[in-house]
Amino acid sequence: MQNDSNETEFGGPPQQGSIWPRLIRGMKLRCPRCGDGKLFRAYLKPVEQCSKCSQKWGDVRADLAPAWAAMTLSAHITVLIWHFFFWGTDLADWQLISYLCVIATGICLISLPPMKGLFMAIIWAKGTTDS
Ligand SMILES: [Zn+2]
Repeated sequence: MQNDSNETEFGGPPQQGSIWPRLIRGMKLRCPRCGDGKLFRAYLKPVEQCSKCSQKWGDVRADLAPAWAAMTLSAHITVLIWHFFFWGTDLADWQLISYLCVIATGICLISLPPMKGLFMAIIWAKGTTDS
């Protein structure tokens, strides 16, 4: 494992520089530290360590924060879609609710990995993990 002198035992959050590029790398599902390695080995399963920089990601647990963020984002976008595309249509209530449930679920499933990458990057950058 590569270690800088100012790193902690779980791989070292950045000590200087802007946090924003690291957060964007996490949202792109890339290693927030180097931006080259993959952050996930499955849909929401993080890699144990980055294949490029050896940063450990197995100890960084985002828990329920990504789900909360994905649902909040999904609710806001679904309401906008309802307002701009379905308002005033002659769909039956059950049809409208069915469409909106499918849209909201799709947005949640699409946004969950980037939200998890974002929160893993935040937790790593702030230097807080379970270990
Ligand atoms: Zn890396």
